[in-house]
Amino acid sequence: MKFKYLLYPDNWSEIAAEVKQEALWRCQKCGLKCIAPGENTSHLTRSERMAYTLQVHHWNRNPADNRKSNLVALCSACHLFYHQGGKSNVSPGLGKPSLRLATLTTKMDNPCILAARS
Ligand SMILES: [Zn+2]
Ligand SMILES: [Zn+2]
Repeated sequence: MKFKYLLYPDNWSEIAAEVKQEALWRCQKCGLKCIAPGENTSHLTRSERMAYTLQVHHWNRNPADNRKSNLVALCSACHLFYHQGGKSNVSPGLGKPSLRLATLTTKMDNPCILAARS
């Protein structure tokens, strides 16, 4: 699936960082406070760290469209929720994100593609 990375612009990590910064490292759907850069996460488990990783979603699911109006910062659960079309039994922002969710999420900056796989 490597070729799909080409859809992302060279400066995607900068764009994503900016969107997340503007969201103050909170999910723009449920308000979950995610891990900001430099934050000490040593008390979190690996799956918790992944669950609290803020991701940048493309509303139109087109990773080549990086206008600010097309981008939104979401926590792992909410991001997955959008990719599943809201049909799942996932409750974004409620309770502890499940391990299953965490394993589907990624530390990468191209979560839309990975989430879309599910
Ligand atoms: Zn959320
Ligand atoms: Zn997405």
